Amino acid sequence: MARRKKIYEGKAKILYEGPQPGTLVQYFKDDATAFNAEKKATIEGKGVLNNRLSEFFMVGLNQIGVPTHFIERLNMREQLIRAVEIIPLEVIVRNYAAGSMAKRLGLEEGQQLPRPVIEFSYKDDALGDPLVPEEYIVTFGWASQQDLDDIVSLALRVNDFLSGVMYGVGIKLVDFKIEIGRIYEGDYMRLVVADEISPDSCRLWDVKTGQKLDKDVFRRDLGNLTDAYTEVARRLGVMPANVTSTKPTLIN
Ligand code: 5GP
Repeated sequence: MARRKKIYEGKAKILYEGPQPGTLVQYFKDDATAFNAEKKATIEGKGVLNNRLSEFFMVGLNQIGVPTHFIERLNMREQLIRAVEIIPLEVIVRNYAAGSMAKRLGLEEGQQLPRPVIEFSYKDDALGDPLVPEEYIVTFGWASQQDLDDIVSLALRVNDFLSGVMYGVGIKLVDFKIEIGRIYEGDYMRLVVADEISPDSCRLWDVKTGQKLDKDVFRRDLGNLTDAYTEVARRLGVMPANVTSTKPTLIN
């Protein structure tokens, strides 16, 4: 049998050619990297959890009218997605100071921001994904001013949705990163949420205890990453079939 064609391999995912034109299969690996791949590990089960969690968030976004690349989950590690042209930006939304913002400005982690803050990094591993102002984005043609306005409103809608969903299960959405893709339909271009939304790309803290339930557990050696992601999945009622639970919360 012919091997399917690999289109791209990143740090945490692989993209394969999809079954129909304009589709791709997104495979979630167990690999974890941090600090621009200076720290690496393979964490058993992470890919399965992120596949499920990203499905859960993308399906929810599609249902409230925020377009995403997601079509359907195929199996434990793979989902069918629409092929998009990725805009080379990391779109970061922050509700509380943490991570690079806290470091850059000398703020205490966890300080609530007066309003959600959106920032952009230029996706370039060799440069370490530098923070860039909107003027750079327009000047270098990565996105137009109109695209940027649309990206900001998409990012704020994603923020409202994710914050609400997480708050409902006792988790604070501190910040997150999304990527945006372009889909061409005839003469029209649409911007959609692409890549993944998972604890790899969000900061998630337990509302009561402040316990970290995201990739900072790996970045900062705070414990078992799979346990943290499983807890997020359990609270959301999104459990992979091979993880036992006392509650009947399986979603196929
Ligand atoms: P920070 O800039 O504080 O390091 O990250 C802000 C948010 O964006 C965090 O939720 C972090 O997980 C996410 N983020 C930033 N850069 C990346 C990246 O290259 N990959 C992933 N998966 N998430 C990122």
